[in-house]
Amino acid sequence: MKVTDHIHNAGGKTQFSFEILPPLKGQNIKQIFDQMDPLMEFKPPFVDVTYHREEYVYNELANGLLQKKVVRKRPGTVGICAAIQNKYQVDAIPHILCGGFTKEDTENFLIDLGFLGIDNVMALRGDAVKSETYFTSEKEGHSYASDLVEQISELNAGKYLDAEILNQAKTDFCIGVAGYPEKHMEAPSLDSDVHFLKKKINNGATYIVTQMFFDNRKYFAFVDKCRAAGITVPIIPGLKPIATKKQLNLIPHRFSLELPDDLILGVVKCKDNKAVRQLGVEWCTQQSKELIAAGVPVLHYYSMGKSDNIKAIASSLF
Ligand code: FAD
Repeated sequence: MKVTDHIHNAGGKTQFSFEILPPLKGQNIKQIFDQMDPLMEFKPPFVDVTYHREEYVYNELANGLLQKKVVRKRPGTVGICAAIQNKYQVDAIPHILCGGFTKEDTENFLIDLGFLGIDNVMALRGDAVKSETYFTSEKEGHSYASDLVEQISELNAGKYLDAEILNQAKTDFCIGVAGYPEKHMEAPSLDSDVHFLKKKINNGATYIVTQMFFDNRKYFAFVDKCRAAGITVPIIPGLKPIATKKQLNLIPHRFSLELPDDLILGVVKCKDNKAVRQLGVEWCTQQSKELIAAGVPVLHYYSMGKSDNIKAIASSLF
């Protein structure tokens, strides 16, 4: 079922959902199930599965030269979605990127998803390859998520890249896109970012999931800005409980966002990461309660490979 239908059918009640990462290459699907099992009692209508593009690894050879190797550390997004739908009868949402995909790759990927009975896709540009500073698209690929959304919408209308394809069966994907309450790291301003977010909606996206934030005021202000810009689709807040001291520096750097001073002070005072994990649960629970009271359609948690803290939060809310 489409995310928008799940939201409509819930009749205003906030629902629980989460995002998982495919396991590192070499690990088993059991790792995903072990992570998901404890969370299924909270009846998520959908679960997102991230997509991880290739990375370049440089190995030093005996003669001192570097050999470039292309690796994908976390393959398996589509297979995991199929396995999740099969095991739990819950909608699995694959993330799909511009990065590393030609338009032809994208079309073939979407055809596979359609055959598997996947109803939703999360359309993203993706980041630059780790060893590069700027994002570059494939020669025959998309530069922005809005262009990817447009291609998915065209396939939903039965328009394939090759206009001569016979029959032209229509897909019917519900398309989600990313939004950034504290603006995307490359955007020159939040207004500019919201302008391009609107383009993704105009091109056919029907819901937004936000980047994580730790101060709800950032989310509420972002929603107001989006509404003022004419964006009317559901804006699902993405939340992550802080879990280690190291994340105090990692999260702002990696996601270009600010942590509230109270949270920073709290983490600094913690004697170890066990205490940080507990504080993260408490902070995120408070955030969640306020967001539920404000009537958000879904709370979407970034599980980052571990589910004990998400379970602790969900237990007191759902
Ligand atoms: P876009 O919407 O294309 O925006 C990228 C930047 O370009 C923004 O600064 C925007 O303002 C600007 N822009 C957009 N259109 C134009 C235009 N026409 N002209 C000029 N500027 C423009 N990454 C992964 O690799 N895998 C995942 O599974 C994944 N899942 C994610 C899930 C969520 C909910 C979120 C919030 C992020 C996720 N990401 C993932 C990270 C994401 O790929 C990066 O944040 C990426 O840098 C931007 O992706 P986007 O889809 O927001 O890009």
